[in-house]
Amino acid sequence: MIGDETFRGELRKRITGEILFDEPAGRHTSIGVGGGIDVLLFPEDEGELMGIVAFLRRRRIAFLPVGNWTNLIVRNGGYRGALVSLTRLHGLSLRDEGKGGVLLLAGAGCPLSELVSRSAREALAGMEFCAGIPGSVGGAVRMNAGAYGGEIKDIVESVSLLDASGVIRAAAREELRFAYRNLDLPAETIIIGAAFRLRRGNGEKIAGRVREIIGMRREKHPLEFRNAGSVFKNPRDCPAGRLIEEAGLRGIRIGDAQVSEKHGNFIVNRGQATAEEILRLIALIQRRVFERTGNTLEIEVKIIGEP
Ligand SMILES: Cc1cc2nc3c(=O)[nH]c(=O)nc-3n(C[C@H](O)[C@H](O)[C@H](O)COP(=O)(O)OP(=O)(O)OC[C@H]3O[C@@H](n4cnc5c(N)ncnc54)[C@H](O)[C@@H]3O)c2cc1C
Repeated sequence: MIGDETFRGELRKRITGEILFDEPAGRHTSIGVGGGIDVLLFPEDEGELMGIVAFLRRRRIAFLPVGNWTNLIVRNGGYRGALVSLTRLHGLSLRDEGKGGVLLLAGAGCPLSELVSRSAREALAGMEFCAGIPGSVGGAVRMNAGAYGGEIKDIVESVSLLDASGVIRAAAREELRFAYRNLDLPAETIIIGAAFRLRRGNGEKIAGRVREIIGMRREKHPLEFRNAGSVFKNPRDCPAGRLIEEAGLRGIRIGDAQVSEKHGNFIVNRGQATAEEILRLIALIQRRVFERTGNTLEIEVKIIGEP
């Protein structure tokens, strides 16, 4: 249905932003793999987003929101349905709450890097742990992104959601069910923005901490190759990377998919890797780590699409 011209015309009527048909996911995923997406949509604002989502629901077309694609693997067979990019909803503003408290209000498509640099510039503390995480606000809230002792759940004040009935509503932090690298959301719910509670602090200290974290990331992470961040969640008692390295898997390769020589929990694309090679490598790691250590590694990256 998505292939026919009438349907494509209907879509074009509803959105002034970009529409890409049969778009290779590998052009977008940070790890550089993935087959064709039936349609990739870039609504320009909340109104277009609501209109397009209502249309997709009426036509019973599967859809998923995407941000910066930095935690995503699309299988070789691509995605049957629509991926809705939130990148155009990228507003960012501050609201003084008194007594040193400030709310940072950001659209779902705003890159975390922008929140980090704005906070440092304005001497606002709380956002430093996000330095170097390449995701968007929507993806970071959905994944409860975290590093260096902080997690999104620690600073979220409220989240703005487009729910499955097509209504936009605010959810306060008490309502949100965060877990390790996850926010439990009902199916078909899209995060359209979030408010983060920060506090006035010492600008030099904040900028210094941001620089320190970026430095540690450069040293420890294989940023010279395309990757999707940590592949596995850390089990309670030992980092996944250490278990993988102890199982003798550092540097192991299937085609162009390789366990990073620098950090065991990263799989890197050495050039022409395919999603299938990455998934075979993930299965191999899980099997070997279980055999050698008895630990079951749970996958952190999101895997979508057809084999
Ligand atoms: C080099 C590198 C380093 C990284 N370091 C870290 C780290 O230290 N800590 C960490 O936690 N992560 C890390 N990541 C992973 C990733 O950057 C984070 O998980 C990030 O928050 C994902 O955001 P995104 O916009 O790229 O999401 P995407 O990859 O686009 O999407 C991820 C998931 O979120 C959903 N989603 C996206 N936007 C929305 C929305 N608006 N509403 C509802 N659901 C949505 C998608 O459907 C998908 O299921 C790293 C990745 C890389 C490549």
